Amino acid sequence: MSILDLRSDTVTLPTQAMREAIFHADLGDDVFGEDPTINRLEAMTAERLGMEAALLVVSGTMGNATCVLTHCARGEEVILGDNSHIFLNEAGGMSALGGIFPHTIPNQPDGTLRLDEIEAAIRGDNIHFPRTRLVCLENTHNRCYGAALTPKYTAAVAALAKSRGLSVHLDGARIFNAAVALGVDVRELTRGVDSVNVCLSKGLAAPVGSVICGSREFIARARRIRKMLGGGMRQAGIIAAAGIVALKEMTGRLAEDHANALRLAKGIAGIPGLVTEPDRVQTNILYIDLVDQRFSDDEFMARLKEKGVMLSHTAPTRFRMLTHYGIGAAEIDAALAALRAVMQS
Ligand SMILES: *Cc1c(COP(=O)(O)O)cnc(C)c1O
Repeated sequence: MSILDLRSDTVTLPTQAMREAIFHADLGDDVFGEDPTINRLEAMTAERLGMEAALLVVSGTMGNATCVLTHCARGEEVILGDNSHIFLNEAGGMSALGGIFPHTIPNQPDGTLRLDEIEAAIRGDNIHFPRTRLVCLENTHNRCYGAALTPKYTAAVAALAKSRGLSVHLDGARIFNAAVALGVDVRELTRGVDSVNVCLSKGLAAPVGSVICGSREFIARARRIRKMLGGGMRQAGIIAAAGIVALKEMTGRLAEDHANALRLAKGIAGIPGLVTEPDRVQTNILYIDLVDQRFSDDEFMARLKEKGVMLSHTAPTRFRMLTHYGIGAAEIDAALAALRAVMQS
């Protein structure tokens, strides 16, 4: 039996084209700036995202940490969503590594932070307070059902931040999903932000890597932070080669993942004992709640795995599913059949 692994879009394996690109990649020592494949990926990503410069990092977590540490000094403060990946899922890196203070405000169900709440969170000039330096946004928003932030919203946050002397970092781990869902060029989603992190290893199916982008001056400083974090890689063109294929060949198909996520959500909505919100599905992420108390969460997951379906457990009675490369409409229907069978057992 083949397993339908819907835990994350990080489980995607590299395509044949990626494996070939890795095999043929021109390589050099990137700490000396001499890996031609990395230089090409960085130039391509910066251009694609409408930013001046870019830097390859090991992971999205390293990308976000590198950016936050580049923007902020010790004792400075970052305003970010209480459901953001940076706050919840990155091992507290900003505090542990940078002595930086996270100031959370509520994420709205659509992934946004309210402008008035951002404004209210910005500290005044007073020796009792940490100095506010940065606002972080997340697009698409992982915990908020993969919601896409619009260009208009992003620009409004950027304008507010700028008017108060703050910078904006965008965790765009799945920014291409957002661009596809909204039908806009990805550059419209980075307008006004000072830095952005984009993951190659999620829906774009590359095996490793994220790229951060910013001004030339910002990326020059970020390069030192990346080195400090242990992310100065050598012949990492073998990673970049797959990333180039990801950017060229894998962004155009993301609409399929979004259609499959909607198909899955609509199917689950008709299964007694499970609750999901198909109206909220804009991209490739959905959540389901187990309202039928016959099963414990672990039992539900174990029974589903016996039938060949894996999902992730994100909170009591709550599970997450992601669609991705390698999962087509037929696999969605098989997953629905497994869910139905478990709930009827
Ligand atoms: C996955 C993810 C990251 C971090 O990426 P890793 O490569 O797993 O470290 C950051 N932000 C969001 C929103 C993510 O979903």
